Amino acid sequence: GKGAAMVTAVAYRLATQHAERQRILDALRLSREQLLEVKRRMGEEINRGLAKESHDQATVKMLPTYVRSTPDGTEHGDFLALDLGGTNFRVLLVRVRGGKRRSVEMHNKIYAIPQEAMQGTGEELFDHIVHCIADFLEYMGMKGASLPLGFTFSFPCHQNKLDQGILLKWTKGFKATGCEGEDVVSLLKDAIHRREEFDLDVVAVVNDTVGTMMTCGYEDPLCEVGLIVGTGTNACYMEEMQNVELVEGDEGRMCVNMEWGAFGDHGELDDFSTEFDRAVDDCATNPGKQRYEKMISGMYLGEIVRNVLLEFTAKGLLFRGKLSERLKTRGIFETKFLSQIESDRLALRQVRSILQHLGLTSSTCDDSILVKEVCSVVARRAAQLCGAGLAAVVDKIRQNRNLSKLKITVGVDGTLYKLHPHFSSIMHETVRDLAPQCEVTFLQSEDGSGKGAALITAVACRIRDAGQR
Ligand code: BGC
Ligand code: MG
Repeated sequence: GKGAAMVTAVAYRLATQHAERQRILDALRLSREQLLEVKRRMGEEINRGLAKESHDQATVKMLPTYVRSTPDGTEHGDFLALDLGGTNFRVLLVRVRGGKRRSVEMHNKIYAIPQEAMQGTGEELFDHIVHCIADFLEYMGMKGASLPLGFTFSFPCHQNKLDQGILLKWTKGFKATGCEGEDVVSLLKDAIHRREEFDLDVVAVVNDTVGTMMTCGYEDPLCEVGLIVGTGTNACYMEEMQNVELVEGDEGRMCVNMEWGAFGDHGELDDFSTEFDRAVDDCATNPGKQRYEKMISGMYLGEIVRNVLLEFTAKGLLFRGKLSERLKTRGIFETKFLSQIESDRLALRQVRSILQHLGLTSSTCDDSILVKEVCSVVARRAAQLCGAGLAAVVDKIRQNRNLSKLKITVGVDGTLYKLHPHFSSIMHETVRDLAPQCEVTFLQSEDGSGKGAALITAVACRIRDAGQR
């Protein structure tokens, strides 16, 4: 009768809604074939970035770092380190003790980088940095001390030597003027001189991936890859000098800062990306740039999720079809939220309370399930894309060495990798699947980027001091 017809109509509507949701989410699901293709294209870009003739057109810049050797345990001394470009800006004092009882002791202080400093003039940014160094020296009771300094500067830099870094372009929302094309060591030194309070001996500019690799390499000599999955994403590894065509010489190896976040900037990811990725890219400070990074890292995943939720709501599949001002607000979903919402211990009721906390009050139980599913699909795709890139890297190293089997360690840091409940395991699984001839161990670094900069500075000072003797 009539009742049965109504039940059928409701069932039908639910089924079509379900199909509609899955259709939208399917665009964010990648097949194994697609991931293999990502790996293949990454491998191609690696070679194009390394070779002199194709370097200028390559998206993955494969930048030489002038870091050639890992610490040998004999380094010692006190060093300052700066860490700019991650979640926090930090100043560190690192005491390295060599020999039999080698140890690394660290003191650090976190400083905020106000929005004005990030997006004002370069002078303002570097004056602020120097202000923080002065505060730190005072806090440590070391005013006036002139220590060798390692500068972890986590942006793409062209280097001709260890103590120079010409900023190619800002990423991750930074846009201070007058810095691109300039040597950040000069910018820092100029700011130090403007303050006329102390002097510093800037010995090394270090990418955070390189610092992470060095820190892990201090414990595990098999560590020859560094990976960051935090606010941004990037990787570095030890490449044969012979293949590093931008630097003279064929002997030994050099660490190469891949800057893989820019993969996709010439359309290499267009067939895998979605309208949601395009929406996120359009609203960023650097549209068209860092396309791979924008599909993977913490700064952007929340925005992808928000854009998917907007679409669901507009189609009447979520929040009873009501588009709230809150949901239209950029940046409401931080990385923290993605990690929380996917925590296995979380009951749906708690998902709902997180949504309420975000100001998305009209949510039902079904809404909570769907939001959680969106988060999981977006994070899974990020972890798989990252794994596909890493599979290309370890296979490249294996081929360099003509091995049928490679054992290697990857040093990893970054908030998304460390805090998300599933990201790391999905990423590991993907690497295992796509690079079966490599046996990869993942080593989390504690405070890798700052400590690594100090270690690199220590190695440079050891070599420099030996040369002066
Ligand atoms: C930067 C890299 C950095 C990565 C992780 C990217 O946006 O371009 O230099 O290593 O973020 O911090
Ligand atoms: Mg960092």
